[in-house]
Amino acid sequence: TSITSDIDTLSREVQKFAESKQQQIRNLNLREGYRREFLGNISHELKTPLFTVQGYLLTLVDGAFKDEKISLKYLNRANKGVDRLISIVKDLDLISKLESADLNLNKQPFDMVKLVKDVFELLEMKAKKRNISLLLDKHYEFPMMVIGDVERYEQVLTNLIVNSIKYGKINGTTIISMEPHKGKKILVKVKDNGEGIKEDHLSRIFERFYRVDQSRSREQGGSGLGLSIVKHIIEAHNEQIFVKSKAFRGSEFSFTAEKLEQF
Ligand code: ADP
Repeated sequence: TSITSDIDTLSREVQKFAESKQQQIRNLNLREGYRREFLGNISHELKTPLFTVQGYLLTLVDGAFKDEKISLKYLNRANKGVDRLISIVKDLDLISKLESADLNLNKQPFDMVKLVKDVFELLEMKAKKRNISLLLDKHYEFPMMVIGDVERYEQVLTNLIVNSIKYGKINGTTIISMEPHKGKKILVKVKDNGEGIKEDHLSRIFERFYRVDQSRSREQGGSGLGLSIVKHIIEAHNEQIFVKSKAFRGSEFSFTAEKLEQF
């Protein structure tokens, strides 16, 4: 009986080993699938603005350059296409950095209130174009000290606020508020009263290149990578990101940050 039970144990082990190898192979196939899809997406995303730029340049070369007014119009449009290409490549660059194992977070104490104010200042012009007011919920005259990589958090706030401007209501508002969260953390909320997101899209908006409305996002100069970058940064800090949204009512994106201990 001891031999049969040994054989039993052994065959169970072999079975387990085989299953774990099969799982590894499934994971590898899955990753290969993601990789292929990602590459396919990238070339598709780059092709659209590239063909636009090429189109305008060819028309110019074909004779449109003789008319100064038309030349200027086409050159401006070509330039816009190049801007889009640059923003996609920049975002891709950032994603590959964030995904590489050696992403070094430079964690240090910083004031979240000051960071929000700085980002507001940088985005003031953009918000003005759609007549959107950028507001801090209360008069945060006091600092809100947290620990994290300030440059990465600046990116998080920038992407979320830019989205609230792009998809916000004209003449609308973007409100940022902060509150204590589970004792050791704070929750930073970015809330707009714009077009909102339907529930069936909500679970997918953090995926790379996922957009609710392709043409709307393109028209706004989006690469479809903004939210995936945000999620990456927050998760690299071991923090959480949440979204609540209602179509035609608005969206609220929020993320946690670690509070400085003595604060
Ligand atoms: P994009 O470059 O397209 O803005 P993001 O990754 O930043 O890419 O966002 C993905 C999609 O999520 C957007 O295309 C848009 O459909 C939706 N979205 C993001 N933020 C908001 C918001 N504040 N209000 C409504 N929709 C939003």
